[in-house]
Parts: sequence; C-alpha cells; structure tokens
Amino acid sequence: DSVGFGSGSGSPSGSGSGSGSGPMVRAEGVHKFFGRLHVLRGIDLEVEPGEVMCVIGPSGSGKSTFLRCINHLEKIDSGRLWVDGDLVGYRQRGEKLHEMREREVAAQRRDIGMVFQRFNLFPHMTALENIMEAPVQVRGESKAAVRERAMDLLDRVGLSEKVASYPSQLSGGQQQRVAIARALAMEPKLMLFDEPTSALDPELVGDVLDVMRQLAVDGMTMVVVTHEMGFAREVGDSLVFMDAGAIVEQGRPRDVLTDPQHQRTQDFLSKVL
Ligand code: ADP
Ligand code: MG
Repeated sequence: DSVGFGSGSGSPSGSGSGSGSGPMVRAEGVHKFFGRLHVLRGIDLEVEPGEVMCVIGPSGSGKSTFLRCINHLEKIDSGRLWVDGDLVGYRQRGEKLHEMREREVAAQRRDIGMVFQRFNLFPHMTALENIMEAPVQVRGESKAAVRERAMDLLDRVGLSEKVASYPSQLSGGQQQRVAIARALAMEPKLMLFDEPTSALDPELVGDVLDVMRQLAVDGMTMVVVTHEMGFAREVGDSLVFMDAGAIVEQGRPRDVLTDPQHQRTQDFLSKVL
C-alpha cells in the first residue's frame, strides 16, 4: 500500500520574496558561538528544491545547531543563511539588514517543518488534535478543512486507526509518525529532521523511515541528520559529513560512504558502518 504526500507544491502564503527558482537552503560562511565555544566554523552549502540532504557526523559536531539555525531556534553570529531566497531572520532594505520582527520570524518558520529525536507531541491531545492544532490556532483555518487534511495525513503515515489515541497510547514509532504528520499539516516547503529515529526501539525505526522515504519520493525538500546509513545511501541525494563545526566532506551518498576522501570521514565511518 503506497502512501503519498503531494509535492509540497510551491510556496504557500507568501512569507517573503521566496522565488522558488534558486536553492531551498543556502548557507554562506555561517558561524555560531555558544559563549567561547565555536560551534559552527564557516558552513557553506546549498540544498536544491526536492533534494534530500543527509547530514552525518560525530556527536557534538554541530549538526543540530545548524538545523536549529535554519529554523530560527538559534541565531547565527556571522555569515548568511537563506531559505527559499529569503534571508533567515533579516530583511534587506537597500544596503542595510534589519532584524526581523517577531511576526515576520513566525511567518518564516511556518514554512519549515521540523521533527526532533523526541517526538514532543502535546500529551493531552489525541493524534488528530495534535495534527490539527497549528493549522487551526496559528493559521486560523477552519476546523472542518483541517480535520479532513489531518485524517488524510494520518492515513498516509499509516495511522488511520489511531485518530483518537493519546500519545501515551502510542509506540515511539507511532508518535514519531504523528509528529511528522503534524509538521506536514502546515504544508511546509522544507522539512528538517534531527535524528528522528535515534530514540526508537530498533523494530520501530523502519516504519518511520518508510514514511520519510515516501515524503522524499513525493518531492519534499529535506535535510536529515541521521545515523541511518542505509537511509542516507538509498534516499539521500547528497551526504554531508560534519566534524568539529565544519563540513569535512560532501558528495553523493554512495561516493562518500564507499570512498571517503578524508581521514576523519574514514575514521567516523569505520565506527558506525
Ligand atoms: P550534534 O548535533 O552534532 O551532536 P550540537 O549542535 O548539538 O551537535 O552541539 C554542538 C556543540 O555545541 C556541542 O559542543 C554542544 O555541547 C554545544 N551546544 C549545543 N547547544 C548549546 C547551548 N544551547 N549552549 C551551549 N552549548 C551548546
Ligand atoms: Mg544533535
């Protein structure tokens, strides 16, 4: 039984000047410090629309921080970051950059879905209510329209029969699939995944990866931090290896995994493969 998500066509409700023609994500010389800790040391990359980029690297290398910067959960200290042609967190007027107001930041974030290692569902809401919450509360959509879309999404993540279940009644893998459906309910143009299967029992990982695989097939642009090398190899269009706040190596997953060019990549892969 196949699942389908539609292609996340175009950019919903203009939150800016996103042109839809350039890269979906672009980073140029991105640096981030936590106090004296230099966590991102000049990140340059581009993610094309429809691309699935997987990011691997040792713990503490800055993978989560980079995703969080894309989604306004952290602020970069220097460099530039764009999502769909829009500077993240800034408006350009003439030569000058102005920090975005809260409302503009919220509009930008609405177009980006994020799924964390921990599922973070609202515990007092059913699966359906979790999925409906943001479209109704944030976007002010009618409950009837959102309900239909939410049912559809639950079906697509294989959880139709769990409509009325609370998170505590679901397995970790089911909760994570609800979390993915919840993010998709906002019709994002970009999905960020931060080790979405790392907290799951091994037998529950496959169902979540299947949902992500279908999302990729349907054309979603995705940046996926993961330790699932099989997924990276089969689903990823590109693979980035990060170490100590820098991109050490990137390329086609097959090439990076089978023929890493750098010693640090080789060392890392020899531990995880
Ligand atoms: P990864 O996801 O690759 O494991 P992180 O981006 O979580 O790495 O962390 C990179 C570095 O930044 C680590 O040394 C981590 O301890 C540190 N760090 C992350 N978040 C914070 C924070 N909010 N305050 C201080 N240090 C942080
Ligand atoms: Mg992390």
